[in-house]
Amino acid sequence: MTEPLLRVNSVETFYGPIQAIRGVTIDVDAGQIVTVLGANGAGKTTVLRTISGVLDPERGQVVFDGQDIARLPPDQVMRRGICHVPEGRETFPFLTVRENLMMGAYTRRDTAGIAQDIELCFSYFPRLQERQHQRAGLLSGGEQQMMAIGRALMGKPKLLLLDEPSLGLSPLLVQQIFGIIRRINQEQNVAILLVEQNAHLALQTADFGYVLEVGRIVAADDCKTLMQRADIREFYLGQKEAGVRGQRRWKKKRLWN
Ligand code: ATP
Repeated sequence: MTEPLLRVNSVETFYGPIQAIRGVTIDVDAGQIVTVLGANGAGKTTVLRTISGVLDPERGQVVFDGQDIARLPPDQVMRRGICHVPEGRETFPFLTVRENLMMGAYTRRDTAGIAQDIELCFSYFPRLQERQHQRAGLLSGGEQQMMAIGRALMGKPKLLLLDEPSLGLSPLLVQQIFGIIRRINQEQNVAILLVEQNAHLALQTADFGYVLEVGRIVAADDCKTLMQRADIREFYLGQKEAGVRGQRRWKKKRLWN
């Protein structure tokens, strides 16, 4: 059996004395889209920060392309091919759109490749090309999200970490951006680990999903199967037909885990 591109193995991460992640194991294969679902505070962002090197795990491994990267700083993780689009986008408002995109290539020295990748970004997000000389702070929320994804693409990722890309966007823009995320996955063969509160969208977009609850994985399956589970339908998709029985089952499961 081939090794996954990314294996997060029994990871435990703390904020000071607070344990946010309690033995999380997640695999992402090359070219795959994997999603992590979970309520507010479940630990989704912490998983992504642990992978991208913003946080060091207390225990466990993060193996990427056969190497343990768990304690590498973010720039080293990025050089290995993992680019993180954080929640809230974290763009540079006083730099232009083009300068923001170039920030994503700061670890690269291949000038011709960088120029090609700027064009690639513009082909996915023509709006960014139109606004490339404007200050990023003047962009709409949707355009800022496009720019954050474009900046990550400039790092030539093998794996993109996307934290809540739909946050604060209109339904139309969300559809548009998710369409582009799927195209990037298929056309550039970039694997994606997607954290999303919109469970419908996440399960429709990804191949495989994990459900995170209070720092622990409580379910892992392909998305089609997850979508059919009564407990997932009730708690994450807001479909009530599972009724009280589904709720009891879910509560039992929480106790077991
Ligand atoms: P959300 O969807 O609200 O962003 P999440 O699933 O991404 O939630 P995390 O942000 O990873 O959850 O938070 C996991 C836990 O860690 C929560 O209990 C949260 O309160 C705690 N936490 C997050 N950031 C910090 C921090 N900087 N200092 C202390 N505790 C934190």
